[in-house]
Amino acid sequence: TVAPDLQAIVDRIAAEMAGREERGKVADYIPGLARVDPKHFGIAVATHDGRMFAAGDADAAFSIQSVSKVFALTIALGKVGDALWKRVGREPSGNAFNSIVQLEAEQGIPRNPFINAGAIVVSDVVLAGHAPKEAIGEILRFVRDLAGDDGIVIDDEVAQGEADTGFRNAALANYMRSFGNIHHPVDQVLGVYFHQCALAMSCRQLARAGRFLMHEGQHPDTGFNIVSPMRARRINALMMLCGHYDGSGEFAFRVGIPGKSGVGGGILCVVPGIASIAVWSPGLNERGNSTLGSLALERLAAATGWSVFNQR
Ligand code: GLU
Repeated sequence: TVAPDLQAIVDRIAAEMAGREERGKVADYIPGLARVDPKHFGIAVATHDGRMFAAGDADAAFSIQSVSKVFALTIALGKVGDALWKRVGREPSGNAFNSIVQLEAEQGIPRNPFINAGAIVVSDVVLAGHAPKEAIGEILRFVRDLAGDDGIVIDDEVAQGEADTGFRNAALANYMRSFGNIHHPVDQVLGVYFHQCALAMSCRQLARAGRFLMHEGQHPDTGFNIVSPMRARRINALMMLCGHYDGSGEFAFRVGIPGKSGVGGGILCVVPGIASIAVWSPGLNERGNSTLGSLALERLAAATGWSVFNQR
């Protein structure tokens, strides 16, 4: 059930976060991320009954980065269905998001779709039958449709920054291609991947885009099935086990809600049947997850009883 005082809860969380000194370090591998003010904090909660509760910088756009892996995975599953699982695993990695080590032992099959290697395979699937521009357009249209907001854009400067510095991602893609697990030219696949990472969205837009995952795969505005209920459950399961890089166990322990984070400081969380939540604060902890975003979600879960490990 929805806590009746949800607006008071998010207001209180935003006020607490505004007073926090320790925010972690903003990602600085590209200028488009490095210059973001660590003082930002935003939270938006879209509830199953169609309401929205927001506080702080909930309308400021930020780089969603790896949160985009949820949307790209959804598109790829729509294209090839369970055949995707021949090319990507479903196990937590226990390694950094950009790790290459497991790929050798596992013959070019990444552990899950939320580490970089897995997301690059997903981009390869999304690219099939398209020019790279069309694939990027498909991802953008999909996210706009989910959010019901045509104002969502891709930040080209961030995409270019990713391309200029993405040597590790290029290595992952080439390595997987050597095993036959990348089917298109590596530069095209990376072009799709870098542009999806550069999606710029506000907490409000992101929370709206995640609603189908709390609605058993249905678009809440149109009733259209984005994915089947079973697939929505499975995407949520992957978010729970693999959504926070090698900090996923800690996030489940402290928050207990499926979530996907990105190095821009955003986190999308799904409480099945109850809420889709987005938080954003750019400072990251040592695992690359938003310091205050994680803390805010811990507070929200405690105040609402929304941990999926609670009996309701
Ligand atoms: N574009 C980033 C990379 O591939 C995404 C990092 C992230 O959010 O995990 O390095």
